[in-house]
Amino acid sequence: MSNRYERSVANFKEAVELIPGGVNSPVRAFKSVQMNPVFAESGQGCKVTDVDGNQYIDYIGSWGPLILGHAHPKVVQAVKETAGKGTSFGVPTELETKMAKIVTERMPSVEVVRMVNSGTEATMSAIRLARAYTKRNKILKFEGSYHGHSDSLLIKAGSGVATLGLPDSPGVPGNLAQFTLTVPYNDLESVRLAFERFGDDLAAVIIEPVAGNMGVVPPQPGFLEGVRKITEQYGTVLIFDEVMTGFRVDYHSAQGRYGITPDLTTMGKVIGGGLPVGAFGGKREIMELIAPSGPVYQAGTLSGNPLAMAAGIATLEEMTPDAYDQLEKKGAILEAGFRQNAEEAGIPHHINRVGSMVCMFFTDETVTNYEQAKTSDTGLFAAYFRNMMEEGILIAPSQFEGMFVSMSHSDEDLARTLEANRSALKKLAGK
Ligand code: PMP
Repeated sequence: MSNRYERSVANFKEAVELIPGGVNSPVRAFKSVQMNPVFAESGQGCKVTDVDGNQYIDYIGSWGPLILGHAHPKVVQAVKETAGKGTSFGVPTELETKMAKIVTERMPSVEVVRMVNSGTEATMSAIRLARAYTKRNKILKFEGSYHGHSDSLLIKAGSGVATLGLPDSPGVPGNLAQFTLTVPYNDLESVRLAFERFGDDLAAVIIEPVAGNMGVVPPQPGFLEGVRKITEQYGTVLIFDEVMTGFRVDYHSAQGRYGITPDLTTMGKVIGGGLPVGAFGGKREIMELIAPSGPVYQAGTLSGNPLAMAAGIATLEEMTPDAYDQLEKKGAILEAGFRQNAEEAGIPHHINRVGSMVCMFFTDETVTNYEQAKTSDTGLFAAYFRNMMEEGILIAPSQFEGMFVSMSHSDEDLARTLEANRSALKKLAGK
């Protein structure tokens, strides 16, 4: 490792002694790209500065939440003002109702919403609720999708689980795992077969409407519609996991973009504006089963935390329908540029994009599911990642994650990114 990362190297050495693997979430370790992780010092707009003073154009964006970029003045001001009035109360605040109003207005299917502290909590609670509502046990998920790290959902998962090659984590009891069925994403026929066999005991189908934890994989035309139809037919709860896509891919989220009405929706990331948050919501008839209006227990000391609500509300207020049009254009610029650069360099590639989520797979195959995503050359990706770091561009340190474009990425930043991409790919090709 060159001197350029001296302080990050020293920081990591110390952290490894005190924190498992030196990090508080596995993908931060840069393990699959064989690099020392960089430690962040500060962020402003789309730029991140590390502890050694290196500056990057950032596309990690805290793994999705920072749709406005780092330290947006309105978000910072909202958090400061709120913090000055107290950080948590344990009795309700008006901010929680304000957040619920925004979410229910913009998310077509959500009539009632409960705030939690992470996406993991949101999906775990939604599954419990679906099981209680249907009085059934099994759930169906898709290979390479990630829905947080609760026991039932860690089977054949994406994100860090895929990056580190740890399918079916130890510690999940086999007799619990048996209730989780997995089928390939975009494969309606497999969904049908699973329902033919187990439909009467299927409580829920949980799906990322755009798969964002195996790279970026859009739903094929008719796929989400088909899943909606089958779940309706069998009385199975359809859960859209919009932790990543919620308020990211459209003003009305993925359900609005594709015109599908799920029964329950899970959220996180963008609605917290960079503070810890999650939420689940949906049809009143189902949601009313949650305590205290119903018997399904779910709670949280810090749920609906004023700082998280303030940051989330400030973020969502900035995200007008016009903002999503702008994001779409920014994403399209990167997509077109990456494709041109990869063709020019003669590097195998497949680029998927939905709005501001962009992913360049190092494969010649079309990527519509996890098996195809796995045909990517992860060694090539790792070298590409390191080249991009040298060029001052920070992307997620994994082939199985997308890039998040934010409102703070200017035309100039995008042009600089494309230049860096061009030279990083050329280097890979030995040109
Ligand atoms: N669902 C999806 C679709 C996600 O992308 C993630 C996190 N990347 C989660 C759930 C889990 O959220 P959290 O990390 O906040 O627990």
